[in-house]
Amino acid sequence: MNIFHPRSYAPSIHHVDYEALRRRGIRALIFDLDNTLCLWRAGPPDARVRKLLKELITQGFRVAVLSNGRLSLRPEVLAFFEEIGVPVIWPARKPLPRGFKRALWVLKVRPEETAIIGDQLFTDVLGGNLAGLYTVLVTPLDPGRESPFTKLNRILERVLAGRKDPPAERSSPPQETPHAKVLADPGEWVELEHTDLPLQLRILTTDNVKFPS
Ligand SMILES: [Mg+2]
Repeated sequence: MNIFHPRSYAPSIHHVDYEALRRRGIRALIFDLDNTLCLWRAGPPDARVRKLLKELITQGFRVAVLSNGRLSLRPEVLAFFEEIGVPVIWPARKPLPRGFKRALWVLKVRPEETAIIGDQLFTDVLGGNLAGLYTVLVTPLDPGRESPFTKLNRILERVLAGRKDPPAERSSPPQETPHAKVLADPGEWVELEHTDLPLQLRILTTDNVKFPS
């Protein structure tokens, strides 16, 4: 398995097939915060996210937030998650394994029973794969609004980019999403190359992306 390759992709947390995750034996869901559950530095998440998280908990999933960003320390953000009973683990220092291990300990689950859902290859996906979790990449809520560190990661993601050809099995158009701004420009599938294995992901914004000819 390529460590930069998410196991699955969804346009947003609202599009993740949680039942399919359950059938895979996933019992716990760890969410990234910035640009996954809410806009960067603009928490707390909205009422729709609250409803989704509460439903997932009602369905029996154990849920936690694992965040590198300081947004999770804001009182209104902490209050949001406390009210619905979701622990927040900070600082996560993703992709290092320590934060993931802490989240697993808090949730009392094993890595193979757990999915990480986040918007970044170099933190959420890489860290999740290293820690042995099932990884789900989602479209960032607003790719234009990110920390300088995240912008650097995006550049690295683009540097990895290879061809534009969409893989046949994943060539369906993106689904409707409330975050139309992100998906208004139809996502492009590119093949990334890392060492020996090709991997594919959707380039979320094609601004300034130079594809090799
Ligand atoms: Mg994020």
